[in-house]
Amino acid sequence: MNANLQMMKFGGTSVGDASCIRRSATIVAEAAKRNPVTAVVSAMSGVTNRLIDAAHQARRGDREAGKALAQALRTQHFEALDALLPESAQRQPVRDRIEFLLAEGARLYEGTALLQELTPRTLDAISSLGERLCAPLFAAALSTLGVKGIAIEATELIVTDAFHGGAEPIADATRSKSQARIVPLLQSGAVPVVTGFIGASVDGALTTLGRGGSDYSATILGAALDAGEIIIWTDVEGVLTADPRLVSEARTIPEISYREAAELAYFGAKVLHPKTLRPVLPAGIPVWIRNSFAPDKLGTKITPKGKSIGGGVKALTAIRDVALIAVGGPGIVGVTDVVGRTFSTTAALRAEVLLISQSSSQNDICFIVAKAHAQATLEALRKEFAQDLAHQVVDHITMDAKIAIVAVVGENMRGTPGVAGRTFHALGRDNVNIIAIAQGSSETNISFVVSDDAVKPGLLALHREFGLSSRQE
Ligand code: ADP
Ligand code: ASP
Ligand code: MG
Repeated sequence: MNANLQMMKFGGTSVGDASCIRRSATIVAEAAKRNPVTAVVSAMSGVTNRLIDAAHQARRGDREAGKALAQALRTQHFEALDALLPESAQRQPVRDRIEFLLAEGARLYEGTALLQELTPRTLDAISSLGERLCAPLFAAALSTLGVKGIAIEATELIVTDAFHGGAEPIADATRSKSQARIVPLLQSGAVPVVTGFIGASVDGALTTLGRGGSDYSATILGAALDAGEIIIWTDVEGVLTADPRLVSEARTIPEISYREAAELAYFGAKVLHPKTLRPVLPAGIPVWIRNSFAPDKLGTKITPKGKSIGGGVKALTAIRDVALIAVGGPGIVGVTDVVGRTFSTTAALRAEVLLISQSSSQNDICFIVAKAHAQATLEALRKEFAQDLAHQVVDHITMDAKIAIVAVVGENMRGTPGVAGRTFHALGRDNVNIIAIAQGSSETNISFVVSDDAVKPGLLALHREFGLSSRQE
């Protein structure tokens, strides 16, 4: 229905100040000369972190943190507005909107400080303010470029469940709401500018999709509107062979499959929110990752099948904010259902398990969860196995938080013998010690656990071993 619709998402650094907003708005305005375009915008960079930090201060009873932040955000957004809109008369409606949102924020902070309680629902309302402040600025920037930009809050479009802090979209309801609201605007030649990161539950409460969730917003809306393509504009030239902050010779991958990109995102490549590709799977909509600071570069195209390269290994990634938990002891062979009880415990906590490894000789089950869930998981397991610990059937339940997962990703590794051998040989050569290993039967990734300080040397060794700095055509 909208096969030529382009859905364009701009991340925090791409809307970081007035000049970034102008540069990004110019990308939209140029594209809008040829095709219908809908933009999705994040908060100005750093704003969401500051909103959340101040919320936690308010929860501890600090009544000034919210006020100080509101003042700083007012200055920041007004300065950007003044730089973007030459005529002061045009600024008033946007100023009014910014004031309205900041007043809402002030009330939320005040209530939090008064009650010294921060519910997930309130935290969502607070952390959404960055996107809600940014969309009107972006729309105003479009208007100076001769494009009718219309700021829209995604609470009007994306319907989610009520899981605050990590809500899941409800596809059918999102589709009908989005089409009803957006299609007439596109038909009138306008460019909707939608807040990323947020949605609303069926009963209308604002929800967020999880940190970094604006990527997900773009694909949810792209799928709902049957877009022809989705372009995620960020601060690097696409998906690279490794995180450029850790591996300076990392290169852009021109084309990558949904599956490979999803594996990379899941194992920590911050360039994409882990759920980004889910909504586009059924329709196979291509997703581009491009650099808003270098729009002449093509970036990376993510497609259903990708493009194979020799050797199979496409990229490396690492996930650092994790902890390894081990349940074990010689006696666990005889304990029925240790595995079942272990993972029922993590499930009850909603702690996602990122990697599992079991060694039969040492009778050890070890697995990885996010650091945020580690302590609670440890305590719950000690409770679950209290009897077995007392009788020394299970002799240890331990946690190591100074570790990281490194993953080697590539769909064609499946048909390429020797990838695992080369991986571990290269690590051994560079004295990188491996704590645990996992390879899924899909063979699109080999992941292993190393100590946190071995991440960088490990990535460098593997990047060299698989020739990733030179092989991308
Ligand atoms: P945005 O604010 O646009 O959403 P993010 O900071 O969330 O941007 O994601 C972009 C960052 O992801 C890059 O600056 C880069 O440091 C990091 N990154 C990690 N791994 C990769 C990778 N494999 N390819 C590209 N970027 C990566
Ligand atoms: N602003 C949100 C965050 O910082 C969402 C995003 O940037 O994607 O998490
Ligand atoms: Mg991001």
